[in-house]
Amino acid sequence: MAPTKQQVTEALSAIKAPDGTPLPQTGTMSDIVVSDGKVFFSIAVDASAVKAWEPVRKRVEDTVKAIPGVVSVMVALTAEKSGGGSKQPAPAHSHSHSHAPAAPRGARGESPTGVPGVQSIIAVASGKGGVGKSTTAINLALALRDIGMKVGVLDADIYGPSLPKLLAIKERPETIGGTRLKPIVRHGLNVMSIGFLIEEETPMIWRGPMVMSALTQMLREVEWGELDIMVVDMPPGTGDAQLTMAQQVPLAGAVIVSTPQDLALIDARRGIAMFQRVNVPVLGIVENMSYFMCPQCGSRSDIFGHGGARREAERLDVPFLGEVPLDMAIRETSDAGAPLVATHPDGPHAKVYRAIAENVRRQLEGRGSARPTPKIVIEA
Ligand code: ADP
Repeated sequence: MAPTKQQVTEALSAIKAPDGTPLPQTGTMSDIVVSDGKVFFSIAVDASAVKAWEPVRKRVEDTVKAIPGVVSVMVALTAEKSGGGSKQPAPAHSHSHSHAPAAPRGARGESPTGVPGVQSIIAVASGKGGVGKSTTAINLALALRDIGMKVGVLDADIYGPSLPKLLAIKERPETIGGTRLKPIVRHGLNVMSIGFLIEEETPMIWRGPMVMSALTQMLREVEWGELDIMVVDMPPGTGDAQLTMAQQVPLAGAVIVSTPQDLALIDARRGIAMFQRVNVPVLGIVENMSYFMCPQCGSRSDIFGHGGARREAERLDVPFLGEVPLDMAIRETSDAGAPLVATHPDGPHAKVYRAIAENVRRQLEGRGSARPTPKIVIEA
């Protein structure tokens, strides 16, 4: 039998916080996500208390693992600065059914986990690597800038950060007062990547809690300034780390990038399902490498069976945001650190990305604070 959220909560009431309070009553826990026997949640504690909490986290993991039917457990301990105040709300534990409202997300100024000064945070995600997610993220960010928004980009692809390459950034971010980081500014975008902070050759092995603390730091310990929108380049795939991120970052919505091939679409479907599971609205799908523009003759051919993503979007009832051709110019500029929307703003591709940006903005506006509270359905 698959475990339920209720079972997890009950098991956790036997565990005490360092001050003796039963864990579910401490108000430190995020919502608990239980899916296919996998359990995820985070515990947000004061930075000065992290040491005392680590054994609690370990006990929590062991306890949840012992529940029959639990396949894996990921409990992230996230540290909040003293007085920082923006804790996750205490989850409601009285639900005996499987429909539970998730924490409010991305609504202007009222999200408990929002980033000060940042109005909306959107994820650019893909079900698998190599579909052009990062290329799309940076060109979309530039296009959002072109349509008048103040934009930040957070490269959360900790396994393969791509912003240093996409924007040819070699320098390291400056610190402010030794604790906070200043984002690097390129083409009018405020950008931050884990790749600015670690050596490119350093192999990184990320454990669950490290993923979350790296992400939390990049969200909250960077002086992002006043932004209309922050574009988060997510790690590809729909594994545990991605799900936790999707749950923990106060996302106003997600853009899914897919190539037209059926295989990639299956992955895209998984990506959509992942965001829906954690109550993040899917703003739509972008079909990348949609058709081939011959550089010599300028003619177009649909080598990959173009249009698959549009059909899939219709079927899944999510918006279709646009299609980007497979074009050497996109690859070359992207790989040379000079993204097309910045370097060829008058070209046809920049126009394509700007149309996508307009669609994203429209979708976001349509889902403003007045949008009905979506339901999260956890399969027990
Ligand atoms: P992901 O983030 O999904 O792993 P990238 O954005 O790194 O993918 O893109 C993978 C490769 O494909 C890169 O070399 C990139 O320049 C190239 N690429 C991405 N989109 C296009 C496109 N529309 N046309 C041609 N090449 C592209």
